[in-house]
Amino acid sequence: MENKVMGIFTAIILVIVIAMSCLLIYGPNMHIIALQIQDSKVSRERISVMQMLRSSEEELDEDTEATVRDVLKGHQIRLMLPKDVTSAGVSILNDYVNRTIAITIKGIGKDYFSQYPMRGNADNIVDVIYDSENLIGVIEITLDDVKEVQMTSEGEYIYLDFLDPHDVYDYVVVVDAGHGGNVPGATKMGVSEKDLDLDFVLQLKKMFSQSSKNIGVYYTRTDDTNPSFESRVALANDSDADLFLSIHNNSTASGRMSSINGTEVMYKGADTTGNSKRFASLCLDNLLSALGSKSKGTVVGDEVYIIRMSEVPVALVEVGFMTNAQELEKLQDREYQKKTAGALYDAIVSYLYGD
Ligand SMILES: [Zn+2]
Repeated sequence: MENKVMGIFTAIILVIVIAMSCLLIYGPNMHIIALQIQDSKVSRERISVMQMLRSSEEELDEDTEATVRDVLKGHQIRLMLPKDVTSAGVSILNDYVNRTIAITIKGIGKDYFSQYPMRGNADNIVDVIYDSENLIGVIEITLDDVKEVQMTSEGEYIYLDFLDPHDVYDYVVVVDAGHGGNVPGATKMGVSEKDLDLDFVLQLKKMFSQSSKNIGVYYTRTDDTNPSFESRVALANDSDADLFLSIHNNSTASGRMSSINGTEVMYKGADTTGNSKRFASLCLDNLLSALGSKSKGTVVGDEVYIIRMSEVPVALVEVGFMTNAQELEKLQDREYQKKTAGALYDAIVSYLYGD
């Protein structure tokens, strides 16, 4: 009896061992096959229509100037809409961090571009990808720079233009919430720094959206993602931002809870114009009076990548210490977050417009 049980047991173990060796041998291949299937799906549905734009550019070049004017009317790209589709069915989403612009058009299918060719020129355009599902077409344009997109509609045509941010706004500000995604920053008493940083940024975003000032504000993240340091600072540099503000929260070097508390603002010491320090001082002064927190001063922060690489006036705010129990409590308080956002908003406005 015992032998029979042992026999069955050995057989089961043997089957498991064989199955696992098969997986080890074929596993990687199966993964590659799965990726190939996925890839062929992607390339079948998402087609680059960049070549169409390039050949249209050549055709327009060969035409007389009058024809170019007739076709483009001074705009960069012309798209034609089917008869039953109006410009109200067109929506535009600009992802400034990744420099992609998604134009969604309701009522167009997979053969849209074969019926309605795109005309225009490829200035600043790296690629154009088209995809359609259930008669919702998405044209995704990748740009080589941070641009605002402007749509004009006239009859059955829509025209697209890509403008420098400063052609649209008086000033441009880039706001950065520290960390994000699988990089939480410090985590104290169950609170992650990435979430606090984002809370402050979203309060600031609310203030800017209600502001009457013509300031274009670009955010490196407004959700739990983690853009690279390079893309964060590139958003500020390439948009020629007038200010770059990064929001973080502090911890003691040891990471242990302590009595150390207060607000600190870093600036770029290598900025010989003094603008980074001036902006940092404005942020610190406003925060201290709004929050009543202890001053840890303005500090040179050139060892921080985004500060060192910033070509525009930059300030990195450490609102408070997460390693201080009382301050950590305040940092999570919605009113405290609103006061912080208000102080930073005022600092930005008074830097840009003067008092
Ligand atoms: Zn941080």
